[in-house]
Amino acid sequence: MTADHIPGDAELQELAERAGRELEDADALDILRWTADTFGPRWCVTSSMEDAVVAHLASRVSPGVDVVFLDTGYHFPETIGTRDAVAAVMDVNVITLTPRQTVAEQDAEYGEKLHDRDPDLCCALRKVQPLEEGLRVYHAWATGLRRDESPTRAGTPVVGWDAKRRKVKVSPIARWTQGDVDTYIAEHGVLANPLLSDGYASVGCAPCTRRVLVGEDARAGRWAGRAKTECGLHG
Ligand code: SF4
Repeated sequence: MTADHIPGDAELQELAERAGRELEDADALDILRWTADTFGPRWCVTSSMEDAVVAHLASRVSPGVDVVFLDTGYHFPETIGTRDAVAAVMDVNVITLTPRQTVAEQDAEYGEKLHDRDPDLCCALRKVQPLEEGLRVYHAWATGLRRDESPTRAGTPVVGWDAKRRKVKVSPIARWTQGDVDTYIAEHGVLANPLLSDGYASVGCAPCTRRVLVGEDARAGRWAGRAKTECGLHG
């Protein structure tokens, strides 16, 4: 795809679905090489700063790659610290997206603790909307989704079509296990959120994240006790 070619949705969808079939058994670096070769500067990595594994992989095939982080205003200090450390030491371009409203402005319009009363609306305002706006300049985005994280992610394609945002969605470590992630972090000295060593298996906004118990899946600590398992970024 040349830099001045603007692909239509049908072309991107066909590209994504074919790559999903052809790259199903490819390793993560090869999936990201295909992404960089296909989209040039028009792709990014999104990171929750739970760890920097996908950012690290992406920087190996595309130094200076954009790494997009959503600052909801509700993150743990450890998450912001991980973001700052990634920006300082890795060969990536960290871009921080923020919601249209500060937490104080949202509280004034919707009342305090919207996350307890209507987490779907809170996620829509603080995650989904800013991500959709931030992704407009890209044709593709790469995520750290893995099939083993939860039953809701078991069918994650390595490359697929994100019909909601009309982007190619790349999940280079979809087939990895938690053990693969731990091994990669140890072998490459990759930055990881300190909360992962403190009982948190998945790190999101502080009001909606708790430590996991023995035997629970990795995402059981997200929106625990509420009828919600995903924030809407991946649905
Ligand atoms: Fe709001 Fe919780 Fe969603 Fe964060 S995870 S945007 S605090 S509902």
